[in-house]
Amino acid sequence: MTFHQTHLLGIEALRPEEITTLLDLADRYVDLSRGETKHTDVLAGLTQINMFFENSTRTQASFELAGKRLGADVMNMAMQASSIKKGETLIDTALTLNAMQPDLLVVRHPNSGAVDLLAQKVHCAVLNAGDGRHEHPTQALLDALTIRRAKGRLHRLNIAICGDIAHSRVARSNLILLGKMENRVRLIGPPTLLPAGIQEFGVEVYDDMTEGLKDVDVVMMLRLQKERMDGGFIPSEREYYHRYGLDEAKLSHAKDDAIVMHPGPMNRGVEIDGTIADDINRSVIQDQVEMGVAVRMAAMDLLAQNLRARRANAA
Ligand code: ASP
Repeated sequence: MTFHQTHLLGIEALRPEEITTLLDLADRYVDLSRGETKHTDVLAGLTQINMFFENSTRTQASFELAGKRLGADVMNMAMQASSIKKGETLIDTALTLNAMQPDLLVVRHPNSGAVDLLAQKVHCAVLNAGDGRHEHPTQALLDALTIRRAKGRLHRLNIAICGDIAHSRVARSNLILLGKMENRVRLIGPPTLLPAGIQEFGVEVYDDMTEGLKDVDVVMMLRLQKERMDGGFIPSEREYYHRYGLDEAKLSHAKDDAIVMHPGPMNRGVEIDGTIADDINRSVIQDQVEMGVAVRMAAMDLLAQNLRARRANAA
């Protein structure tokens, strides 16, 4: 098996063969999830704890569903009601949970690097479900699976990531993954929403949608991450939509068969026109949600295999 990770903390640590192994397994889990009996027992006997210190709809639901479809015992910690509110540190919470003998810990946290730190303190496999503006590896993997299934390949594609790049962990993980798989990635957004030194990533940068979308195969839209903005990054949402919102006119510059993606949650009329988001001939937004469950099943299956092998060696 070509997957040697103990945790899934980011795309940075994955080799291209590991990404392919995970996506191939995820393809099988798409078939399982479309079948009558959406269940296997590969995680039977294992305990999965989901800890979300930041709001989530899709990611939390799909990690829970993924664990249940694989037969794990799944527990969702209600972090709003937890001892964190009483002043307990992240590390103390981690040590408390560790004592309950989980096998898989799924963590989302508003601080970049918090999940890596936590992974050093526990004995189980840790999956990063998004840490600050750092990484969101399962999002990039589900995007990769969506692209591979829609385009028939995951290399030598022209891919535009558009909008609030500076605050987006989705953009960062995608940038790393798509680069590793040898695609040409362009970033399009207002200069205020592009991180400093981004050219070093070997990407093309545009501040004009018409120019940037020319001949792209994939258009990936991002939400304005207002919760991470401290100050005015755009003149107004109306002005932003006018210049960077994906509408029919701007999309016409992409290839005729270009697909439109968005990780959600989506702000219609801010970064994307609602009719494009709903156009099943162009938009793969619902496919992304479906692939999310399959990719998370594959990630937990592979990490659990490695965990079992490590335990067997230690015994
Ligand atoms: N759901 C994604 C994330 O957690 C994207 C977003 O929130 O805009 O990063």
